[in-house]
Amino acid sequence: MMLYTTRAASHYMRDPEDMLELAIERVNDTFHNSGLGNISLRLVHTQAVDYDEHGSEQFNDLYRMVDGEGPFKDIRRLRDEKHADVVGLLVDDPRGCGLSTRVAPDSEEAYFVVHYACAAVTISIAHEIGHLLLNLETHSATGIMRGDWDLRDLQGVATGFLLFTPQQAEIIRTEVARRASRPDSSRR
Ligand SMILES: [Zn+2]
Repeated sequence: MMLYTTRAASHYMRDPEDMLELAIERVNDTFHNSGLGNISLRLVHTQAVDYDEHGSEQFNDLYRMVDGEGPFKDIRRLRDEKHADVVGLLVDDPRGCGLSTRVAPDSEEAYFVVHYACAAVTISIAHEIGHLLLNLETHSATGIMRGDWDLRDLQGVATGFLLFTPQQAEIIRTEVARRASRPDSSRR
């Protein structure tokens, strides 16, 4: 499930929902091109939230969402209702491309924030999903899980060059299979 602020949405000429559909398709291309063709994200819901991220930091935006503060108060209920495994929030904050709660959380804690301009090239969504699925504390030297991107890197690099490494792909494959096989896993 992807949420977006008014400020982030104001940068799109087209409908932010269409843009998010396209972004998720590209994330799925990243999985596919990394040899993970049987793993894909399905966008179950998109919604605007009446949240002003101006002057805030992505860390605070993220935890206001996780804690259900103010405009995020219905997000947990919505997340359950839509059977979302992961919840992302699109913001306008160029100081960073994105942030996720932590590595390999349970589905109930799988939340991330991304800056709209990075999300537009989809790298950041795949990167944050990578953190949520990979049990890695650190960034890697190459590929989509590299750290220290600046905005120019992200905007200049074609998505096709940024993939999960074969080792990361193997970990993701195992992790997704493990989650899918849990008896309490009613979600997909
Ligand atoms: Zn990262």
